[in-house]
Amino acid sequence: MSTVAAYVVRSRTAPVTLGTVERREPGPKDVVIAIAWSGICHTDIHMSRADWGEPPYPLTVGHEIVGTVSEVGPEVTRHRVGDRVGVGCMVNSCRECVTCVAGFEQYCQRGPVNTYNSVDRDGSVTQGGYSSHIVVDEHFVLRVPDTIPLPQVAPLLCAGITTYSPLRRWGAGPGKKVAVVGVGGLGHMGVKIGHALGAEVTAISQGTSKRDDALKFGAVEFRATSDPTTFDDLENTFDLVVNTVSAQIDMSQYLRLLSLDGTFVNVGAPPGAIPIPLFTLMAGRRSFASSSVGGIAETQEMLDYCAEHGITPEVEIVQPSEINEAWERLLKGDVRYRFVIDMSSLAP
Ligand SMILES: [Zn+2]
Ligand SMILES: [Zn+2]
Repeated sequence: MSTVAAYVVRSRTAPVTLGTVERREPGPKDVVIAIAWSGICHTDIHMSRADWGEPPYPLTVGHEIVGTVSEVGPEVTRHRVGDRVGVGCMVNSCRECVTCVAGFEQYCQRGPVNTYNSVDRDGSVTQGGYSSHIVVDEHFVLRVPDTIPLPQVAPLLCAGITTYSPLRRWGAGPGKKVAVVGVGGLGHMGVKIGHALGAEVTAISQGTSKRDDALKFGAVEFRATSDPTTFDDLENTFDLVVNTVSAQIDMSQYLRLLSLDGTFVNVGAPPGAIPIPLFTLMAGRRSFASSSVGGIAETQEMLDYCAEHGITPEVEIVQPSEINEAWERLLKGDVRYRFVIDMSSLAP
């Protein structure tokens, strides 16, 4: 075990403060990563504030991790010391079940091991990327293309893959009409990636403040839900609606935006259950679906795709001393569009 510097939360009401976490001694297939950048995801706040149940404190969050390899175990073949690498929302899975073998580790039948607040196969509780170093099995470490600046890689590892995966799965591409609901950390990536895939993307946001940005990201149309004509105008329009909003929305309004056989995919994580109006589904043979991040192979594919097509997130860099303020701003929607923490001050 080694003790490394980390930013920790000690209770659901406590601020993020500098402390330490323990990292295991690297095993034969482990990669040690010196963390350079760590993205701030809404999930970090949900977990820290016990919105989805009480986590074991102290907790270190962060699952958009980018850095360089500082050490490798003797059996590591995929990464070398000095490589630019990333770690997203998972650090392990059973690797044996049918979904793992198929490359869908995020849907491991025994449950994936999340990057933080998850019990690893060795019984330890995982701790995330708001820290100086992390030790991860090489299988869960992504190669980072040279052409994307490192801080902009971080948000791809959660926000990027969480939107890329459903856009690919449900066939976003030429001739397809796609709506992305919510233009935040996830949604702005959904618009950029959907546009790059060749789909005709409409961005749907609460107000009009993100109109110019959404059009710049590649949306052909922007509509505000505060405009009472929006839902009537867009009824029966979309092959695919990707909802990135982490709050309750009125599904009876959103499902009618789908055309025949259209699919509404939920990737946001609102608390509690959402009532689904079945008659609205029946009326157009519509589907309601959900999706969670992506497998390791697909995450690598997404990184390579974004590099090839020049797709990068909009980021605002913050220092570790600004994490608490950044969280407050994120809760108010005051970020364009993803905070990324400069972790270099923690480097030894
Ligand atoms: Zn996330
Ligand atoms: Zn599995």
